[in-house]
Amino acid sequence: MMRILKFLERWRFPIPFVYSDEYWMLDVGQHVFPIKKYRALYERLLLLGARKENFIVPEPASDEDILLVHSPRYVKKLKTASLSSAEIAMIELPFSLELVHFVWLMTGGTILTARLALERGLAVHLGGGFHHAFHDHGEGFCVLNDVAVAVEALKKEGAVERTMVVDCDLHQGNGTAHILSGKGHAFTFSIHQMDLYPSNKPPSTVDVGLWAGDGDEEYLTALRAHFPRLYQEYKPDLVLYLAGADPFEGDQLGSLRLTKDGLRQRDLIVIGEARRIRLPVAVVLAGGYAAELEDTVGIHLNTIRVAQKVQRRYSQP
Ligand SMILES: [Zn+2]
Repeated sequence: MMRILKFLERWRFPIPFVYSDEYWMLDVGQHVFPIKKYRALYERLLLLGARKENFIVPEPASDEDILLVHSPRYVKKLKTASLSSAEIAMIELPFSLELVHFVWLMTGGTILTARLALERGLAVHLGGGFHHAFHDHGEGFCVLNDVAVAVEALKKEGAVERTMVVDCDLHQGNGTAHILSGKGHAFTFSIHQMDLYPSNKPPSTVDVGLWAGDGDEEYLTALRAHFPRLYQEYKPDLVLYLAGADPFEGDQLGSLRLTKDGLRQRDLIVIGEARRIRLPVAVVLAGGYAAELEDTVGIHLNTIRVAQKVQRRYSQP
């Protein structure tokens, strides 16, 4: 009986989630950044029947790993709370040592998710995706580039040779593109709204720019033009997927017009095509600023549903 129950549970929740209760404890005041989404998503998964055992709690990243990407000078400024007011203004979040702890922990979470993806095929971080952070400064709600750190940390420990970052957040992945530029062991793909922050977009390996008002059809056609082809050509050992919820038509920061169904199809292309050819996928949430928190949480939950469905399909013996 226990065996059957265990099997059923594994069937319902076949992929590990990385999450810490500390994610939502950061006080950002009245802010468009929806810090509560992390907790809300965790609670929704519990309501859907996930058990505490399905969640793995990360440790903060080591300074050694952070320094694979970020400059010693910037790391020191963060740890000693000595950023200039101009540097803090660029981050656009209230600065505190709690924020510093938060970003170290989030980075540890993305590294852990990447390792779990290599073991299990798929893993989801209920956080991460801070793609606007550069090696020597933060911007746009991003302090440390957890994605680039995970790429470098896994490469250094010999777990992967080549990683592909598939960035489907509404905003171009400027920090990731800049940090990983010219590195043969990383391929960066970004599909984003052009007429929007960041105004300066360092080139990714492949950039796809869409315009205000573009919806499901334009987006999915552009995505299908690249996937699964890029997977087959680059043959990464790991895919890091930024499943931003902000291309949604109800987002406050953007004006792409993707429906929830369109976003689900996007997830199915990115995750499904990778798993079809057995590429491990680590999913991170990235942005999402819908007027209603429930919309952002619902879109992230749909990504998890797609990931679980794909995992059930491709984990058959
Ligand atoms: Zn975004």
